[in-house]
Amino acid sequence: MSYAFWFNAPLKCLSCGAEIAGNLTGLHTRGLNPEPRDEWVVPDQELALDPDDFDTTYVRVRSPTDGTDFRVIHGWCCPTCNEAQWARLVFRRESANRFRFVTAESVPLAPEELRAAHFISDDVKYWIEEGPPEETKGLSEALGTAE
Ligand SMILES: [Zn+2]
Repeated sequence: MSYAFWFNAPLKCLSCGAEIAGNLTGLHTRGLNPEPRDEWVVPDQELALDPDDFDTTYVRVRSPTDGTDFRVIHGWCCPTCNEAQWARLVFRRESANRFRFVTAESVPLAPEELRAAHFISDDVKYWIEEGPPEETKGLSEALGTAE
């Protein structure tokens, strides 16, 4: 079994403009939570995570340099218009096995976002590989190139 963190951070839909309350975005990551239960987390909350947990949960696209916040690009779905949306989650390392969930913010799935990301979720990877070519142009190249 794998357990989820549900990220309670408000997100703006970049398709319809709706401001979605943090408990309604559906933004969650299964498998990241080391505890045997699903859990809500809010911005600024500290989590018992080590860097390996990110590698077992997400796809690493670039190694974070020392002292850098971990940036994860993750999918979510707008509950108002049902369009696929993307969010940048930021995690700050506090100690060997503690990370602070800093924030989540809506971002376009664009090459410059991917070039600044360290990890992507499986749904982002799938979209880049299988999405319509006119919307995914330049994205796979951006995964392998430096910040
Ligand atoms: Zn929307």
